[in-house]
Amino acid sequence: MNSGSYVTLPVKPIPVSREVDVVVIGGGASGIGAAISAAANGARTLLIEQRGFLGGMGTVSLVPAFCPFTDKEKPIIRGVGMALMERMKRACKEDFQREYEDTLDWVPIDPEVLKRVYDDALLEQGVELLYHTFVSEVLMSANNRRVDGVVVVNKSGRSLVRCSYIIDATGDADIAAMAGAPFQKGGEQGELQPGSMCYLLANVDRKSFATFLEESGDSGQLHQTVERAIEEGALPEGRKSISGLAWVSDYLVGVNFGHVFGIDGTKAEDLTRGAIEGRRLAERQLRFFRDYVPGFEGAHMVASGEQLGIRETRRIEGDYVLKAEDFMEARSFPDDIARNAYYIDIHMATSKGNMTFTHLPPGQSHGVPYRVLLPLGLDNIWVPGRAASSDRAVQGSLRVMPNCFAMGQASGTAAALALRIDGGSRDVLIAELQAKLVEQGAWLGESFAEGSVG
Ligand SMILES: Cc1cc2nc3c(=O)[nH]c(=O)nc-3n(C[C@H](O)[C@H](O)[C@H](O)COP(=O)(O)OP(=O)(O)OC[C@H]3O[C@@H](n4cnc5c(N)ncnc54)[C@H](O)[C@@H]3O)c2cc1C
Repeated sequence: MNSGSYVTLPVKPIPVSREVDVVVIGGGASGIGAAISAAANGARTLLIEQRGFLGGMGTVSLVPAFCPFTDKEKPIIRGVGMALMERMKRACKEDFQREYEDTLDWVPIDPEVLKRVYDDALLEQGVELLYHTFVSEVLMSANNRRVDGVVVVNKSGRSLVRCSYIIDATGDADIAAMAGAPFQKGGEQGELQPGSMCYLLANVDRKSFATFLEESGDSGQLHQTVERAIEEGALPEGRKSISGLAWVSDYLVGVNFGHVFGIDGTKAEDLTRGAIEGRRLAERQLRFFRDYVPGFEGAHMVASGEQLGIRETRRIEGDYVLKAEDFMEARSFPDDIARNAYYIDIHMATSKGNMTFTHLPPGQSHGVPYRVLLPLGLDNIWVPGRAASSDRAVQGSLRVMPNCFAMGQASGTAAALALRIDGGSRDVLIAELQAKLVEQGAWLGESFAEGSVG
C-alpha cells in the first residue's frame, strides 16, 4: 500500500557488517535445513531471522504438529528434518517421549522445547545466528544475475551483509522477488488459501475428551460438534471441523482450527488485520470449546501465534515447475533431491468454498527435482520451502515442514558445493549433490538407490 506520494532519501553510505559464504534468510524449517547443511559442508554460514527464535510457522505461528515424515509405509523424509524432530522428542518430558517414541507422522510440537533444540543444533554446527533482523533490500551484481549482499535493518542500524550465495528461506520468496525473479501468487483470480491463528490450550482433560468421543461417536476433528455450534451461531460459517488437535500432554493441546480469509502474507496491513481477526476468532473458539466440548470446560489459552499462520503467498518460477501430473503419476526426475508423499491440501479461499484433498496410495511418493529450487534469471540463489517452484496444487502438498527441511538440506548442501568450485547454482554436479545428500542421511527413493532414475 502507498499513499501515492514519494520522497527521495539522501544517499548515505552504510557499513558492511559481515562477509560470509552463505547467507540464509529465514529461520523456518527450510532455513534451518539449509543453514545446518551449508555449515556442515564447510561454508561460513549466517542465518538471519526477523524474530528472536527459529522455527518459522512451527513456533512463530504455533502450527501444532509435524506433518508425516513417511509415505505410510516407510520414512521418506530423513536427514536433517527427521533428526531434529527426534531431538525434540528426546528433549520433551518423559510422558511425551513414551507416547511418541515410535511416531513419525503428526508428532505434536512443543514450541518452547523446539526453539531451544533449534538454537543448539545450529550453533553446534557453527552457524552464526542473527535474530531480530529484517532483510529489506538486495545488492545486485553488475549483470543483475547475482545477489552480492543483503541490506539488513535491526537495532544496531542498517548495514550490508556481503555474501557469495543466498538461500531465500523467507517462505514468501521475499529476496528472490526483490532480486527480480519471476513468481506466481495464489490462484488465477489471485485468490489465496486462508490463514489460521493457531494456539495452545492448557488445563484441558484428555481423558474426559476421549470418553466424550467414544460415547458421542463424534470424530477426533469434532465434525458433529462443530456443525452444531455453527448452526447455533456459536461459531462462524466456514470449515465444519477442526483441522488438528495435537496433544503435547494430557493437559496441554495445540489447536489448528478455522480460517481467516483474504490475507496476503506479503502485506503488512493484511498481516495486521489477520492477527487481530485471528485472535478474535480464537477467543470465540475458546468459548466454543468450553461450552461444547467435554474435557475443555476449564480450558485456558496460554499462547496464540505471534503471526497468523500463512499457507500460501509467492511461488517462484524456477528452472522446473513441479506440476499436479508429476504428483499424480508419482514421477521421478534425474535431479531429485527429495521425495514427497504428503497429500494435496488446498484450503478454501472463502468461507463458502470447499477444501481439496488428493492422496497418493500408501508407499508411493514423487521426486522433487533440484531445478524447483532455482529461480529463473539468478545464479547464486536457492528458494526452498513454501515458495519453491510448483503449480498451485503441488504447493498445497510441498509446503509442509518435513518437505521444507528436505528442500532446505538440498539447498544448503548445493550452496556449499558451489562454493568449492566457485560456481553458480547451476554448475553443481547433480550426482555429487545427490551422493552428499544420501551420505548425510537424506532418502531419494528406491530407484535412486538402485541407480536408475528417469
Ligand atoms: C495454519 C497452518 C497449519 C499448518 N499445518 C501444518 C502441519 O500440521 N504440519 C506441517 O508440517 N506443516 C504445516 N503447515 C505448513 C508449514 O508450517 C509451512 O508451510 C512451513 O513452515 C513453511 O516453512 P518455510 O521455512 O518455507 O517458511 P516459514 O516457516 O514461514 O519460515 C520463514 C521464516 O522467515 C522469516 N522471514 C520472512 N521474511 C523475512 C525477512 N525479510 N527477513 C528476515 N526474516 C524473514 C520468518 O520470520 C520465518 O521465521 C501449516 C501451515 C499453516 C499456516
